[in-house]
Parts: sequence; structure tokens; C-alpha cells
Amino acid sequence: MSVKPTLQVSAIPAFTDNYLWLIHDDQHAAVVDPGDAAPVLAMLKAKNLQLDAILLTHHHADHVGGVQDLLQKFDVPVYGPANEKIAGITNKLDQADRVELASPAISFSVIDVPGHTAGHIAYFSDEQAWLFCGDTLFAGGCGRLFEGTAKQMTQSLAKLSALPDSTLVYCAHEYTLSNLRFALAAEPDNSALQQRFILEEQRRTRGEATVPSVLGLEKSTNPFLRNQESAIIDLLITQGRLHSRDPVEAFAALREWKNTFR
Ligand code: ZN
Ligand code: FE
Repeated sequence: MSVKPTLQVSAIPAFTDNYLWLIHDDQHAAVVDPGDAAPVLAMLKAKNLQLDAILLTHHHADHVGGVQDLLQKFDVPVYGPANEKIAGITNKLDQADRVELASPAISFSVIDVPGHTAGHIAYFSDEQAWLFCGDTLFAGGCGRLFEGTAKQMTQSLAKLSALPDSTLVYCAHEYTLSNLRFALAAEPDNSALQQRFILEEQRRTRGEATVPSVLGLEKSTNPFLRNQESAIIDLLITQGRLHSRDPVEAFAALREWKNTFR
């Protein structure tokens, strides 16, 4: 019996605010959402790692743009959503499918999370309690509804909320401070949120990433997971943004408000 090498996740900053995620032991790596190949190749080289797999959450260019260049250098499987057209996918995935990687040794269950795009998927490792959710759930926020409905997105977020509170949320963008500024407008009296804003602001001042975040903290501070909270619903109604107490309509009102919030 051999000892399992320790797994790590490294953030690869790309473009202005993307994080590409590299899951690796001391020799082998899998990359999630390589929107750009160059910084991935640079990190593989710096850490002396071999790429063994590519995992994709959805079809947007900032998540898949580096796939073809990586495939020129590494002949590896490309996992991705069954319901989106993405060049290079070898393994099409749908709700409850499993991804079993030999090296790095990790397995994921696939969660369908339509809303940001129609076929968006997320990858959850229950052994590690790591969630790679692309542009569905963000630290303090959620993705825009480009192809899906508010109803779909609330259902998708509810699936993610049902994971263990200790789950680390590896989302794909550093949007946290602007998300939390909006969150404070939507739920000004939430003391967990007030505290979080101060801490995350300090991390950004030090130049640190605010992700991964922790799912339990998202549940207590992220307004898009709190669309059933009466304080949020009351405020939306008072401001004339909502005309019922329906949680899906509350979510839609929050999402619309956030789209123009500065
Ligand atoms: Zn996207
Ligand atoms: Fe994105």
C-alpha cells in the first residue's frame, strides 16, 4: 500500500479578476477553467508539474480560452458540461456523474447548476470538501443570469447550499468586495456580514485573495443565498423592488438591483 500524496489547490490569477485553479500533488496537476494557457504553463513549469486533466464548468471564453493551447502541449482528457458546445471536451458530464482522477488522486461528483449559462456544472470533492463552481456562486454574490432564469439559479444555489458548511468554495473571480458592498445595501443590519466586510477588505489591502471562501460563511452573509430572509424581503418591498414575498421573485429583484448597483 502506498501513501497518498498530499493534494493542494493553487490559484492562478488571470486577466483582470479571474482565478484559474490548479489541483495538484507534487507531480501531477488538473486545471479548472483555464481561460488562458500562458499562466497555467508558467505555474506548471515553476512547480515542476505535469498536467493530467482539464475540468471545465461552462463555455465562456475566460474559462475555456486556453484549452486548445494546453492540448498542444499535453494529451489529456477534457471534462466539461454535456449540455454546452465546447471544442475539445472528451468527457461529457451531467448531474450526479463522477469524475475519478488517478493523478492527482481526487474524485468529484458533478452538480448541474444552470443559471449563469444553460449547461453550467460544478465539481464537488466530498473527501476534500472542495467545490469548484465557476461563475455560479461567488464569495458574497452569484453569477449573472446570461442564459438561465431566476428560478433555475435559485435551484442551483440551493443545491450548492446543501453541501457541508465547511466546504471551500473555489469560485472563478475576485469580485468579493464589490459583492459585499451590495450585500451590505441589501442587508445592512447583518452583523456577520459587517464583520466579514472588514476582514475581506483587510485581505485585499494586503494583496491577498479572498477565495476560496467557506460555504457556512456564504450562508450567513451572501444575500443570494438569503433570499428567504424576511429582513431582505422587507427591504426589497419597502424600496419598491419586490411586490410579493416569493423567494424566487426576491432573488430576481436582488439580481436585477445588483446588475446596476455601484
Ligand atoms: Zn462566465
Ligand atoms: Fe467568468
